[in-house]
Amino acid sequence: MPEGDATQRAPVEAYLPANTDELVSLYDESFHLTECSARHRHTYAVDSLVDATLWHVYPELLAPSTKSAVDFVLSSGLPRNVEVANAKTGDRRTLTVFRSPHGLGVVEADDMSSLRGTYSQGENDRALLFHQATHDVLTGLPNRRQFSDQLRSALPVSKGARFALMQIDLDDFKPVNDTLGHGAGDTVLKMAAERIRSVLGEHEIAYRLAGDEFAVIQQRASQPREAERLAEALVGAFKEPFTVEGINVFVGASVGVAIAPADGNEFEQLMKAADIALYAAKKDGRRRARKFSRSMLMVLEQRETLRRSLRTALKEGQFFIEYQPLVQPPFSIVGFEALLRWRHPVVGIIPPSIFIPMAETDGLMREIGQWALEQACREAMSWPEHFTVAVNLSPAEFLHEGLTDRIAQTLDLVGIRADRLELEITESVLLERTINNLDTLNTLKMLGVQISLDDFGTYYSSLSYLKNFPFDTIKIDQYFIKDLEIDEKSQTIVRFIVALAHGLGMSVTAEGVETAEQATLLKKTKCDRLQGYFLGKPIPTEEIGTFLGKLRPPVSLENFLISAPTQSLNPRRM
Ligand code: C2E
Ligand code: MG
Ligand code: MG
Repeated sequence: MPEGDATQRAPVEAYLPANTDELVSLYDESFHLTECSARHRHTYAVDSLVDATLWHVYPELLAPSTKSAVDFVLSSGLPRNVEVANAKTGDRRTLTVFRSPHGLGVVEADDMSSLRGTYSQGENDRALLFHQATHDVLTGLPNRRQFSDQLRSALPVSKGARFALMQIDLDDFKPVNDTLGHGAGDTVLKMAAERIRSVLGEHEIAYRLAGDEFAVIQQRASQPREAERLAEALVGAFKEPFTVEGINVFVGASVGVAIAPADGNEFEQLMKAADIALYAAKKDGRRRARKFSRSMLMVLEQRETLRRSLRTALKEGQFFIEYQPLVQPPFSIVGFEALLRWRHPVVGIIPPSIFIPMAETDGLMREIGQWALEQACREAMSWPEHFTVAVNLSPAEFLHEGLTDRIAQTLDLVGIRADRLELEITESVLLERTINNLDTLNTLKMLGVQISLDDFGTYYSSLSYLKNFPFDTIKIDQYFIKDLEIDEKSQTIVRFIVALAHGLGMSVTAEGVETAEQATLLKKTKCDRLQGYFLGKPIPTEEIGTFLGKLRPPVSLENFLISAPTQSLNPRRM
């Protein structure tokens, strides 16, 4: 780390593969001795040397054959065993030369006589051990330990100096691991590391921190210009798909950038800034880079405030449910989907896409989900008896032990018929724990509740789920409905899903139906149920009576479409 201050460096012990009783010495990038073990200091009388360098201590390394080994270690980051001969005595020794955080390190074997003449296995093992301790085995990149050593030693920066820290997180990596297996996941990680490395220049080092998290430290002074350029190059390196076992997988990269000292001049502070920037990149749609700014911090603080108030929201009765009609063509309402909302006393109404992920990470979702289930069932008791109520289950609720007991108890407590309750789960739930999932779904079926696969088509849409799990209904995601009138491919996909579901004895609901044309097409395609703003927006329970009243006498969807093709059936729009 060229701009690092020697006084900030971690102690020599941090870089030693074995005990400090060895002959270990560390040098900076201009080969000046910076640290050494006590034994080395004594053996080489280091204190008597003025401005000791690697070449003073080991003049043998200056020979052309050994000098090239030193250059190799510096450029590749890989350790090398170098055999040297003492010019005066002819004694041969093996030195393990390795890349240290600030330049080079050298370890000499304990028992020199045992090393004479050949490379020893012990030395090779030592080199390997050191490399393993500081590098990631899979990708060959320096690991988290190296990363934090180097980052810590670079901070605080000396006056006038600047450098950039980038946190990189892969987008959509988990589904690759989950669906194609860990072998494929490892291949993608290796290729990802290669792509990251391919855009790096001088003074730019990449690290693998964990899983699909990487980092880059860029020691260049023209900041933030250089960082912005590199961050864009990193994102760009992931534009093309990865081909694994003949399959193209699209894994992107999100990058968060923080500049020292402007965004932080201490380890924790700079890491947090890069983390916040990475979070912003993810929030803004992923596959992009963001540089840290103070306003991000404000957004985060607001989120934190929101998150804290979520803890008391349930107690204070701030949740309520809106119901969106499920319509069977020709137009007849068969039920409603319960959609949870949070009425925050200051912020106003907050959609589930904001607070459910928070509740999930904070472990609050089970309690909130139980409230929603019970409330929806209770409210459904006041509707006509043949109406079903669909309740969404989040992964945290579904995967929690005791879900089936909880559902059975709720049915008993509220006194609602089991076949009126429909549970909506998404595919992501099924990716987690396949065998127990099947048990859970089968038990729910035995209770008599119906099960829908929500948002079908958006994730990996593995057909094996349809074969193995007992769904009653598949809900086609709005993504395929929104351009149905103009996109023939969407039409083909919808036709295919309907045929597939019917062939498997399942029914199909289309989500997000917004226009009369979409409704007509879906009806022609033999879609069993429709849901969307065209047929009715989500409404509070108190409005359901009025909604149903306004629709009486029943209007056939066909008639309705002929007489008023551009209007909505939603009473709010009528
Ligand atoms: P979802 O289950 O796929 O619900 C459908 C979402 O699409 C709802 O958004 C609904 O308001 C919206 N929508 C319906 N028709 C249309 C349309 O024609 N056009 C457009 N653009 N959107 C339409 P909402 O209410 O924001 O809910 C979002 C997601 O939050 C739901 O997706 C569901 O996954 C989750 N969610 C909602 N309530 C609950 C709950 O009680 N528990 C759990 N675990 N998740 C819930
Ligand atoms: Mg749903
Ligand atoms: Mg959905």
